[in-house]
Formats: sequence, structure tokens, C-alpha cells
Amino acid sequence: MFFKNKYSIDNIRKYIVGFDKKVILRNGKKTVYINFDNAASTPVLLPVLDKVNHFLEWYSSIHRGTGYKSRISTDIYEECRDIVSSFVNCDKNKNAIIFVKNTTEGINKLSYRLNLSYNDIVLTSFMEHHSNDLPWRNKAKLLRIKLLDNGQLDLDDLEYKLRLYQGKVKLVAITGCSNVTGYINDIHFISSIAHSYGAKILVDAAQLVPHRKVNMKGYKDDDYIDFLVFSGHKMYAPFGTGVLIGPKSVFENGDPEYSGGGCVLSVSEDHVYWDSPPEKEEAGTPNVVGAVSLASSIKILEEIGFKNIVNHEKELTKHIFSKLQTFKSLNLYNVKKEISLNNIVGVVPFNDKNISHLLLASLLSYEGGIGVRNGCFCAHPYVHKLLKLTPQEIIKLQQDILFGRLEHIPGLVRVSFGMYNTKSEVNKFIKTLGYIIENKD
Ligand code: PLP
Repeated sequence: MFFKNKYSIDNIRKYIVGFDKKVILRNGKKTVYINFDNAASTPVLLPVLDKVNHFLEWYSSIHRGTGYKSRISTDIYEECRDIVSSFVNCDKNKNAIIFVKNTTEGINKLSYRLNLSYNDIVLTSFMEHHSNDLPWRNKAKLLRIKLLDNGQLDLDDLEYKLRLYQGKVKLVAITGCSNVTGYINDIHFISSIAHSYGAKILVDAAQLVPHRKVNMKGYKDDDYIDFLVFSGHKMYAPFGTGVLIGPKSVFENGDPEYSGGGCVLSVSEDHVYWDSPPEKEEAGTPNVVGAVSLASSIKILEEIGFKNIVNHEKELTKHIFSKLQTFKSLNLYNVKKEISLNNIVGVVPFNDKNISHLLLASLLSYEGGIGVRNGCFCAHPYVHKLLKLTPQEIIKLQQDILFGRLEHIPGLVRVSFGMYNTKSEVNKFIKTLGYIIENKD
């Protein structure tokens, strides 16, 4: 059906570390775990571990060592930057490819390095993960692009705000794909509008890179992406590594966020000459193992091919959408006629009119060995909008959380697919969901 020959779905599954792990159900039986929580973190690919093991044989201090192993380690680390740069099609000469811990660290670093003031505006949206909202709050004036009724971005509002505050909006900081609805934003269209009003664009690509090819150079003169950030643990590498990419010129001025070893050319008692970016932004001994993991997961995704990944995940999404629509008691938040499967990734938020999201998610685990996520997914303002909560309800909800009254907190259940999930897993999920709904009393 997809992933021909070497990358048949069966082989892909075998590449997933722990793909056949069994878990214990409420009835005491064991079943193979179904991971439908890939938007949080994907499992790790076996070939990534192989690459890491191979690297460990050459593991040595990088950049300043003259020993053979040091030089090999340094070359490998720098090669990882090349792999990242060609993965997202960016010009390595003009851009700094900075290894960070994760998307959150990358955005925080950028928010620090842009040297914004409260006279500057950062335009983000109501669709963002907290990681692309909170770091901007104390650095500039933050405005948010409104949403349409279906939860997509209101692009007219984007242009309206850019025009109204022309010259003041320094950055449009937008997610490439929502972790709640899976909606993919047209980042190149947004980029060309932002650029036409003199603003730069940051794309939070944490949810985009595991599912779609990203092209920082863009397709026309003005639709390039200035800044891009993503995490390895959402694309089949282990935890601990992400990347922030942006023009070197931005990082050349001023002091880095962190300082110490590895980021300087020369230090005297009272003067520091910083190294050039990216080294300037990577103080301390870098996480070379992390860079190797991320680069190897990129190579495998490229080998499998995004066309195959997209086709397969689309099939799964279509299948689950059609099945979920047969449950009368469910509210579905992204199953809309006007949203094509081309503009969404395999993320499905829903809740049940009679069962709390927490109970439903827990029962999916106890009854079916199925891992999903529930709540507001680090995107509270977005989920509040999707649930159409009033300002009073939001205040009450915040108080309930503060005082530990958690039973009736509104929220959603989220299924999120990875490239290795199968239709038979979806069928098992649907069967378990049906059983839970039927037996709710
Ligand atoms: N942005 C989006 C859209 C996300 O989904 C996430 C994580 O779920 C993040 C940012 C933060 O990623 P990390 O936890 O790797 O920093």
C-alpha cells in the first residue's frame, strides 16, 4: 500500500524501538501498546540508535582537540549541521544552524536575541503552543491573529494587523502546524504578507517537520522563512536536541544568551571577542550525540520519503475521521468539509458529551492499551477558543485548576499519528472507544 520494499509498513514498524512492547490491561490480559500520542513525542528509530552507537566509537571532545578522534567527532558534528540545512533547504552560508535542547529553548533564545522592546510588536496567533507565546510576552508587545470559526487562522486579520501596525510588527511568530487540530498553516503565504509589511517570520515547525517537507528558501522572492525551529524528539530521534535556524547577521551582534567555553575567540580580563554564530550561540560542550541522533532521523525520513509518509498518514486520518463520525456522542473539532486532508496532519481532537476527557483517555489505556493525550495540550488559549469558553468560564477554570478541583475541567482527547501507525490500530481504537461509550454507566 505504501513504503515500497525496504520501507514497507511492516519494516518501518520493526525500525521502531519497542514497537512490540506489551502492556497490561484492566482485565489482566496483555496487549501490544498502541501509541497514538506522537504529537507529544515519537518513538525512536532503531537505525538512529545504530548511528549513535557507531558515533560513540569516535566520541571525543569537539572543535578544540587536535587528536584524531576529536577531529572525526568535530567533522561528524559539523556534518550534522549540513544535514539539517539541506533537510530544510536553507542557505548555510547565510544562516546559523544552532543546536538547542528543543523547540522551546530555540524560541526562547530567539526572543532574547532579537533585542525587542515594548515599542515592538510580535504578532503570533491564538493557535500557538505555549512555547511560541510565553517567550514573547515579556520581550515585546504581543498581538494575536484571530481564528475563524473552524479554528483555522484568520488571514484577513493577519493582514489587517500588519497594515494597522506597519513598521511596528517586527516578527510574525507562527506555528507551521497546530499540535491541537493538526491544521497546517500556509507558511509561505503568511511569509510573503509579513515581508510585504516589513516583518520577519518565525515558523515553529515542531509539528510540521515529522509530516511535511519544509523549504526555508520558499518558492518566490518574498516567501522565504527567516527563522525556523523544531525538536528531534517529535521526529523519531531521542529527547534532548532541537534546532534554531536564522540569519547569521541576527546572532552576530550583541551578547549571546549563554556564555562560557566554546563561544569565544579570545578573552582577556576585561574584554571578550565572541566567536561567529552558530558557535557563539552554543556555549559549553555541545550535545554531539543529540546532533547525530537528529541528523540520522532526518536521513531516514528522507529515505522513506515524505510523499510516502504523507500518503500513509492521510489514509489513517481519513479512516479515523470516517469512523469517529459514526459516534453520536462525540464532538469532533477538526473534521470539517472545507478542510482538505492536504492541509491537516494526523491529529484528531475530540471529546464525549457524557464522559470526561480524563476518564476517556484513561479508559483507552486501561481497556485497550492505547496511549492518547488529554487536556489542553500546552495550548490553553487555543483549546479555550475551540471549546468556545466564555471569559467567565476561563476564569472559573483557572481557579478550579489552582484549587485542585480537576474533575470537571474542560478539555479534549487527542489522537496523533506517526508514520508507523496502522489501520488495524485505528480499528482497535474505534472498537475500544465504542466499548467505553456503550458501557459508560
Ligand atoms: N510547538 C509545538 C507546535 C509543539 O507541539 C510543541 C510540543 O508539543 C512545542 C512547540 C514544544 O516542543 P518542545 O517540548 O520539544 O520544546
